[in-house]
Amino acid sequence: MFDLISSQILFLYLLKQIYKAMYIFIENTFRRVTKDFCCWEYFYPDYPDALRKSFKPFYLNESLVLAPQIIRNFINVPVNITSVHRPVINQLFHYYFMAVDLQINRNKEIALHNLVIDSLKLKPHSDLFINLRKCGINGFGCSGTHLHLDIRTGYFNNHDDFGPFCEFDET
Ligand SMILES: [Zn+2]
Repeated sequence: MFDLISSQILFLYLLKQIYKAMYIFIENTFRRVTKDFCCWEYFYPDYPDALRKSFKPFYLNESLVLAPQIIRNFINVPVNITSVHRPVINQLFHYYFMAVDLQINRNKEIALHNLVIDSLKLKPHSDLFINLRKCGINGFGCSGTHLHLDIRTGYFNNHDDFGPFCEFDET
């Protein structure tokens, strides 16, 4: 039988378990966080080294940690993470740690980039799209060279079996 204190402790314990399960600690180290990606790849990749040293580690939703691996598995060549958190308020989803940008054609492999974009446009019949939706991605921004994925809670323009989502032509 639980008294008030015990149930509060239990609540905090469960919260901690959930929190740990859903967020990955991101710091500027070589710690591996998925099969092919290390921590530092998510740690302010769009900032110069001198500035990166001034940033603090942060927790990132595991959907955003796993999404680059899903793309990587799909095309089977390395993928560049080009942006995660941006401390600028005019980029809302990046500002709130809710987005990741990828460069698929690092080696000018534009065909691979187009393969990913075309596959995403084949929704709802594309395995890539379904895997990203299952993973929790609900914002898809495609530009000529980059892909933006986010975990937004509003600003949707489409809907499927997994719920609302948004697609647009920017990153
Ligand atoms: Zn973006």
